[in-house]
Amino acid sequence: MRRFILVVALLVGGGMVLHFFGPAEPEADSAQKRERVPFAADRDAAPQAKAVAFDGKRAMSYLEAICDIGPRMSGTAGMKRQQELIQKHFEDLGAKVAMQEFSARQNSQRRSVPMANMIVSFHPERQRRVILCSHYDTRPIADQEPDPRKWRETFVSANDGGSGVALLMELGHHVKDLKTNVGVDFVFFDGEEYIFDRDRDKYFFGSEHFAQTWKKSKPRVDYAAAILLDMVGGKNARFPAEGYSFARATKLVREIWGLAGELGCQAFKDQVGQRVQDDHLALLNAGIPAIDIIDFEYAHWHRLSDVPANCSPQSMEQVARVLGVWLQRTK
Ligand SMILES: [Zn+2]
Repeated sequence: MRRFILVVALLVGGGMVLHFFGPAEPEADSAQKRERVPFAADRDAAPQAKAVAFDGKRAMSYLEAICDIGPRMSGTAGMKRQQELIQKHFEDLGAKVAMQEFSARQNSQRRSVPMANMIVSFHPERQRRVILCSHYDTRPIADQEPDPRKWRETFVSANDGGSGVALLMELGHHVKDLKTNVGVDFVFFDGEEYIFDRDRDKYFFGSEHFAQTWKKSKPRVDYAAAILLDMVGGKNARFPAEGYSFARATKLVREIWGLAGELGCQAFKDQVGQRVQDDHLALLNAGIPAIDIIDFEYAHWHRLSDVPANCSPQSMEQVARVLGVWLQRTK
């Protein structure tokens, strides 16, 4: 992902805290209101939706297995090993796994490299579907390290690329038994981090390829919504609503953040955060309502310290709890 510090749309502190749960109210009421939401005493608890028995420990073990491979850049042996791991994992769970292969050349590079999005389908026969997605490649350089001599050291990118995969690997155990009305596609995007030169290089190869392919496909699958997971595993993660998501898929943001409030998932903040360019934009541009759940304050972003020890099962558990109920309610 790419963040624009100058386009900050933080609405905190100025009496502009955003209320996803209803019309804006005077600031004096807001603290009280937000406090009450987690307990949801005054809400219908949607009794038909059961909580997903997400195993945070097992999700962490998946995260460690992914990071044990080492860096997983597009077109490398590490990426290939990760693809094999993901394919076996989901096939063993009874899902259908498809490789969407393509190649791409980066502006700063002489040669093109092979890339592949992975599409893991549950209930593949259903025409109406939702997408849960994450990029799964890692960045060639840890370029947020203050000392540039460190940029080329081994960088496993646990939260950024790893956590979305690990969360979905664990969620995969539960999805096929959930009572859902829609088919579910987990999509892993390649080529999101394939950046060598931040000024010249192109972002989001995988999501753009996926979106273009979907637009051209006939008959076209009917995607009701897409939820992108990016850096969902950091310790004490905070998820304000990402700015583009709120502007362009407001209804879906309200659904997800409203549900988080109902379920007491306090990592989700009742605020609009900064705008982050990420894989959801290609989906939005293709006409799919898409949002990004992202902790863009993660301190180890694009640093060598983005390792499993700086991640936490609690952050992933909260995201999975919300997704599990959302999947059961979506039509
Ligand atoms: Zn990144």
